[in-house]
Amino acid sequence: MDAPNQGVTSQQIGYALFMSDDDLERAAWFRRQARAVRSELRRIPATGKNADVSVDWVGKEERFLPAEQDWRKSALAAGGDAQASLWASAERVREEVFGKRIFVRGVIEVANFCRQNCSYCGMRRENGALRRFRLAREIVRRVINESLPPSVTDLNFQAGEDPVALKELVLPVIEEIAREKRLGISVCLGTVDHRLYDELRRAGARGYIIKLETGDPEQYRLLQCPGTLEKRLEAIQYLVRTGWCVSSGLILGLPNQTLNQVIATLDLLRSLSLSGCSVSPFIPGEGTPLSSEKAADLDQTLNAVAVLRLSSPRWIVPAVSAMNLCDSSGYVRALRAGANLATINLTPSEWRGDYQLYRRKRWIMTEERVLRAIEQAGCEPSPESWVAASSSFPSLASLLPASRSLP
Ligand code: SF4
Repeated sequence: MDAPNQGVTSQQIGYALFMSDDDLERAAWFRRQARAVRSELRRIPATGKNADVSVDWVGKEERFLPAEQDWRKSALAAGGDAQASLWASAERVREEVFGKRIFVRGVIEVANFCRQNCSYCGMRRENGALRRFRLAREIVRRVINESLPPSVTDLNFQAGEDPVALKELVLPVIEEIAREKRLGISVCLGTVDHRLYDELRRAGARGYIIKLETGDPEQYRLLQCPGTLEKRLEAIQYLVRTGWCVSSGLILGLPNQTLNQVIATLDLLRSLSLSGCSVSPFIPGEGTPLSSEKAADLDQTLNAVAVLRLSSPRWIVPAVSAMNLCDSSGYVRALRAGANLATINLTPSEWRGDYQLYRRKRWIMTEERVLRAIEQAGCEPSPESWVAASSSFPSLASLLPASRSLP
C-alpha cells in the first residue's frame, strides 16, 4: 500500500484493530503506524502535558480516511476479540498519558428544580410527581467539612438548571471552600447567563460540565434538550474562551439514534476544545415521555468510551454510575475501556432518591465502591485534581486552526 508516512494518529491505532485478515499488507502498515503512535506517546511526560503532540494529532486525524471507512463505526460495534483489542489499546493510551491514576471527584447534588424539560430526564419541569428540593447551605457545608472522603481531590456541584440554587447556594459555598480547602471545584449547572459563569469563576470554580447529549440539531430539538443546540454550543464556546476547563458529553442509545448521528456528535465534541467528555448510556427515566423505551446497549457505550480515549488521548473521560444500572460491573469495565475519572456521590441519603436523572432507585457510588472499582481495574486514585491537571494544558482554543472553531 502506498501510504505516506504522515505521522501517527490515534485513528490509525483504531483502524489497525479492525482490519480483516484478507487485507494483511494494509493491516501490517497500520500496525506499524500503531507501534509508532505508542512510541511517540512514550515521549509524552506522565502528566501528558506535551500539548504539541496532541494538537498535531487533532490536526491530522480527520483527513486520514474516507467517511465510509471511519474506524469508529467498527469500534462502536466491536465484540469479542475486536472489543478486547479496542479496550486494551484505549487503556494503553490512557496509561501513556495519565499513568495508572484515576481522578476521584465527589459530587453533591444540591437542587433538583429545573426550568428545562428534557425528554430523557426525570427532573424535567413537567414531572409533577417529583418532590423538589434545594439543600440548605448548612447541609452542604456539613457534607464538605465532616464527610469528605480522603480520596476526593475535586468537588462537583450539580443541580438542575436553577439560577436560584446557583446564586443563593452554590456561589457562596464555592467562595468559602475556595478560600478554605485545596480542592478542584467544578459545577454542572446548565446554560445560564454569561455573568453567572463569570461570577462562578471569580468565586473559585474552574471546571464546567455542560453536555450536548446529541450534536444532531433535529434530534436535539425532538428530545427537548436544553434551549437550542446553537445556544448550548455558544455557551461552551464562551466557557472555553474565558478559561474554564469544560467537559461535555453525549448519550448513547437514544431512541431512533443512528450511527451517523453518533459519529457527527463525536466530531462536533472534538471540535470544541474540551478538557473532557463523557458518554452515558440511555436509561429510560421514570416519569419521562421516554419511560417505555429500550435502554442502551452497555457494550456499545463502553466501546464509545474507548473511542473517546483513542480519538482524544488527554481528555478526562468519566466512568458514569449509569453504567452500573445496565450491568453491575459496568463501572469497572468503563475504567478498563479507557475512562480516567471516578465519582463518589456525596449527596445526603435523604435527597438522593429525588435527584432523579433516571430512576428513584439509583446506583450510588460510595468511596468504598469507587476505590474497589479502581483497584479491580488495576489502577490507583490520583492525588491530583482533574481541573488542576487540565488547567496546566495550554488552551487548545488558542492553538487549533481557525477552521476547527465554531462558526
Ligand atoms: S437533563 Fe439537566 S437540564 Fe435537562 S431536565 Fe434534566 S436536569 Fe434539567
